[in-house]
Order: sequence, then C-alpha cells, then structure tokens
Amino acid sequence: MTDPFFHPVSGFDLPRFAGVPTFMRLPHVELDSQRLADVQVGLIGTPWDGGTTNRPGPRHGPRQLRDMSTMIRAQNGATGIRPFELVNCADLGDVGPNPASVEDSLERMTRFYDRVVDAEIVPLSAGGDHLCSLPILRSLARERPLGMIHFDSHTDLYESYFGGMKYTHGTPFRRAVEEGLLDPSRVVQIGIRGTAYDNEDRDFAKSVGIRVIPIEDFHARGIEDVMSEAKEIVGTRDTYVSYDIDFVDPAFAPGTGTPEVGGPNSFQALQVARMLDGVNIVGADLVEVSPPFDQSGATAFLGASIMFEMLCNIGLSLTGNGSN
Ligand code: MN
Ligand code: MN
Repeated sequence: MTDPFFHPVSGFDLPRFAGVPTFMRLPHVELDSQRLADVQVGLIGTPWDGGTTNRPGPRHGPRQLRDMSTMIRAQNGATGIRPFELVNCADLGDVGPNPASVEDSLERMTRFYDRVVDAEIVPLSAGGDHLCSLPILRSLARERPLGMIHFDSHTDLYESYFGGMKYTHGTPFRRAVEEGLLDPSRVVQIGIRGTAYDNEDRDFAKSVGIRVIPIEDFHARGIEDVMSEAKEIVGTRDTYVSYDIDFVDPAFAPGTGTPEVGGPNSFQALQVARMLDGVNIVGADLVEVSPPFDQSGATAFLGASIMFEMLCNIGLSLTGNGSN
C-alpha cells in the first residue's frame, strides 16, 4: 500500500537549517497543481499588513514563521499526536497581496481562499495582520455563519478608525458580524486587556451577544475552566479559531505591533491551543507576528508552535477523534 500522506522532511534526513523553508517542512503544493486534490489541510501565508494602525511588519510574518517552523518535529511531545499521519497537510504558498490597496488585497485573499474552500481544504493561515481574517471568513462562511474562538488582547470590534476607515486590523470581527459571517452568540474572545480608547467595542460585543473574557478573569479562573466555557459557547457546529500572537505576554512574544502587558506565558499560550480538542475547526489562523520587532525569532517560533498545536486539533477534528 502506498503511503497517502505528505510527510515533512525529517531532521534525521536533512538538517533543519538546510533546504527551502516551507511551513513545518511540508511539500509546497500550488493551487493549480493536480496534487491539490490530495490535500486536507492547507498551510497558507497571508503576507499583508495594510490594515495595521500602529507598528507594522506582519507582512514579513509568513516568511519568518516558515523559517522558524523548521524547528517543529512530527510528533506532539505532550499528547503524542502525529498530525501529519492523521491528515494530509501541505504548504499552499502565499496569497499575493497588493501592498498599495486594502480593497484589492481583501479581494485577492477571498479569491485565493475560495479556491481552497472549493477544494474542501481546511486552511491554517499565517498572517499578516488581523484584517486578513476577514477575507478568509468571507470564503469559509459563505454558506453559513461560523462560531469563533478568538485569542487576542484586543476585541478587534471597533466600528472604524481615522474617521470612517472601516477596514483596519481593529475592525475585522465587527465587519464579520455585520456581514453575517459569524454567529455572535457562538463567538468568544479570550485575553482582552490593556488601555482602551473607550467602551465602544465592548458595548457592541454586549449588544450582539459576543462573550468577552478579559485577562483578569482568565488568570483568576484558570485555563481549563475558561476553555471549557469557550467550547460550550461554540458547541459542536463549525467553528473558526483566530489567534493573535499579542494574546501572549510581550515578555514571551515581543515581536508584534500592538503588545499589551499582563498576558499569558508561552506555556499557557500552547495550552489554550491544545485544549481546542473536540472543537469542530473549519479553519484557523495565527496573525500579527512582526519580524522587525522579533530580533531573536522567539515570537515566530512560538507562533509556529501554536500553529502546530492547532494543526493537531484540526487533525483530530477531521478524523472524528475529538472528545465531542
Ligand atoms: Mn487582533
Ligand atoms: Mn491584538
């Protein structure tokens, strides 16, 4: 019997610093390749930060995440899961954005993801800034609204910036609710903190029924309690997972544009992703890694490690091995 899986290149065969970097050393499969039909989970880069309102740089995120993801091995050290033998995974490359146009970039991303969704591939994306989640949701949620588990220190629910700018990395989920891409009663935002402009985002969350779990509650209640509530909120129906690296304390993830102190450490950052087992994950992203602020590469390495944890649970979800 031939092996149906694309395997990552092992560090036993080729040193991990050698070779052309792809996400987790997986094969690169172009969207127009015949091999696309064999792919179940597509790792995709969205190298675009045209929605960034403060310190930029996530346009360089996918390349550094690919580089640091060569540190990832095939087996989860904590759970023993070997995701690359559960589902067939490949690096589908990058969306080619337009750094000079927000609207055109959003359209390009949606067109790319439409092809991924048409091929029935679950996307695991690497940003890019958080506005990249909106065009992804436009593809993934075109048939029905999704639930969402959202890790972030910000709600990204603002109405607009700079007098009417509706598309920034502070607004994607406001747009997604307005466009019917998310079912707000099945959305939970975890880790919210920092100084605020005002209460507009939280008032909106309350008015539509989005559950916001501030960092004070996260630390007081503990991870298991918070994650079990999150899983109850999204239930067993189709759910998106969006993970902003600024959820993590800047001591552990300094390489991001809008850091907020008082967050989880890197171990807790992995734990919340590991506790997504049983969630029916139809897509996930890891956004806002900004390599210019990531001198050691530690932020990108953490980001790649979080992507691996999410990938393990996507594998469980696709093979029906989750706890639900
Ligand atoms: Mn965000
Ligand atoms: Mn954020």
